[in-house]
Amino acid sequence: MSFNCRFAPSPTGPLHIGGVRTALFNWLIARKNKGNFFLRIEDTDKQRSKDEFKQQIINSLKWLSINYDGAEYIQSKNISKHVAVAEELIKKGFAYECYCSEEEINEQKEKCKKQGIPYVYNRKWRDPKDLKIPKDVKPVIRFKSKISGNTIIKDLVQGERNISNSTIEDFVILRKDKTPTYQLSATVDDHEMKITHVIRGDDHMINSFKQKQIYDAMKWEVPSFAHIPLIHSEKGKKLSKRDNASTINDYIKIGIIPEALRNYLLRLGWSYKDKEIFSLKESIELFDFEGIGKSPSKLDMSRILSINETYIKSMNENDLFNRLKEFSQKFKTKIDKSKENVVLKSLNFLKNKAKTLEDIFNNSSYILTDNLKISNEDKSLVDKKSQEIIKNFIEDYEKLSNLNKESLEKIIKSLIDKHQTNFKGVGQPLRIGLVGTKFGPGIYDIILSLDKSIVVSRLKKLV
Ligand code: GLU
Repeated sequence: MSFNCRFAPSPTGPLHIGGVRTALFNWLIARKNKGNFFLRIEDTDKQRSKDEFKQQIINSLKWLSINYDGAEYIQSKNISKHVAVAEELIKKGFAYECYCSEEEINEQKEKCKKQGIPYVYNRKWRDPKDLKIPKDVKPVIRFKSKISGNTIIKDLVQGERNISNSTIEDFVILRKDKTPTYQLSATVDDHEMKITHVIRGDDHMINSFKQKQIYDAMKWEVPSFAHIPLIHSEKGKKLSKRDNASTINDYIKIGIIPEALRNYLLRLGWSYKDKEIFSLKESIELFDFEGIGKSPSKLDMSRILSINETYIKSMNENDLFNRLKEFSQKFKTKIDKSKENVVLKSLNFLKNKAKTLEDIFNNSSYILTDNLKISNEDKSLVDKKSQEIIKNFIEDYEKLSNLNKESLEKIIKSLIDKHQTNFKGVGQPLRIGLVGTKFGPGIYDIILSLDKSIVVSRLKKLV
């Protein structure tokens, strides 16, 4: 059996983190089953659709390596097919023209509002026997939904869902201007694209009941449905575009790496035993519908950071360096060529104290700067005795012919003895002189990674 999935975003805003997860789940299940994963851009709402959003969607998927098969499918190019299906539905008696004016519809809506009941179109034109077609009203086309009985969907995540057909209104499939609505376009395209599994957010459940009726009317094979619970914000509310950290760009700009975000999104609403970290290969092998939970998941920034930290720590330094370079150039300042080597050399320790690429960038500021600033507070920690220690250190350090951890250790030990102090007594003034603060990487790491001339010139400024 072929296995075809799709991700069908509307390019009416930047790709939302919930959308990314939907794309990921579709992609994983398609890859696992050696099927296809398509990207369909649902751009039939010409007013709200923007090319920049389409591009942002494509770039976001690319950034996460969620690669789709073939070119992106542009829904608006298939409008004539959607219209043809609407006409066929009319011919077969499954759809009809509705001439209600906007005023009439608004009146109905008002009435329902007053009664406190949800608005449902009253099916006035379903049976137009005694009605006169008004001259100046263009009709919409409505689907003739079933009135009696029930519709059942065996959802791959939610289980069996059963609703009474009377709750599904005669929904519009063609607007007055003959443009198709989402319900029609999505159904026709899913059929045309031979989609076997429709996986989307559970806010689309009711749409699946409507769309199933179109499939049945056209005698098309109905795909399997899987509705995944939504993602809620950290406050427990439905995630909206106004929440910061809702789009991929919010993560890229703080230096989250794509593998970590993909791993986080995989675990957001899906689980496999108590495993947390999944290689790409494992994700594809282990992902399944059974592991998807039924309740909404909550976005947890501290969890994202902690997974990112794990990935950064285990990353090869050359790879990490290239990402840092790209990140810095894009969001901070370009790493100067002359500093590249020291940064690369320092990553083996800098990566252990960072949750994001931004942290690494910030923590390497002492390498990147040509003009190290030391706050007065830190400067005041360097007293007379510390200055003596620094002086002695410079003398010994400059004499060293073989610079390595052992030879440095020897110098520091001898200074501890000579000045009757402890490790901090020597390490702290050196760190302040070299990094600009008393916090920072280990003193051996700092000295071994910086150029000799820089070590000496920075320390000399303190004595
Ligand atoms: N364009 C719809 C959306 O972005 C697609 C829903 C679907 O997957 O059918 O919500």
